[in-house]
Amino acid sequence: MIDLVPSARRPYNRPKTRQQYAADRREKLVALLCARDYEAHVTARTAAGEEPDPVTGLGYGYCAKCRACQSFDRLEIDHEAGCTWDKRKVNAWRRAARYWREHEEGVALRALCRSCNGRDGQRFRRRAT
Ligand SMILES: [Zn+2]
Repeated sequence: MIDLVPSARRPYNRPKTRQQYAADRREKLVALLCARDYEAHVTARTAAGEEPDPVTGLGYGYCAKCRACQSFDRLEIDHEAGCTWDKRKVNAWRRAARYWREHEEGVALRALCRSCNGRDGQRFRRRAT
C-alpha cells in the first residue's frame, strides 16, 4: 500500500482513541451550548441595560446557572427537564452520541459547572430498578 501521508504531517493524523474522540464530540456540544447560552445572556443583559459578561477565552464557557467561567472539559451537559436515562449505564462514546441526537431532536440541554450539575442532578436522580 502506498503511503500518501507525508511524514511531517504524521502527528496530526495519528488516530485518536475512541475515548478521545468521544471527549472531543462532547466538548463540541458543550461549546455549542455555551455559545447559544452566551448569545441569550448578551441579549437579556443588553435589553436590561446592563453590561454582559466578557467574552471567554478560547476553550472556555460560562455555566448556564451560576455563570462561573470554566474550560469546556470541566462543564457538564445537563438536561433542563431532567434526564430520562441512566448516564452510568452508557459509555462515554454512546453518551456523546446520545447528547448530540437529543440536541438535534430539540431536547433542552445546557452546560453546567460540576457543582451546579451535581446540585441539579439530585432533584432528578432516580435509581433505575
Ligand atoms: Zn455553575
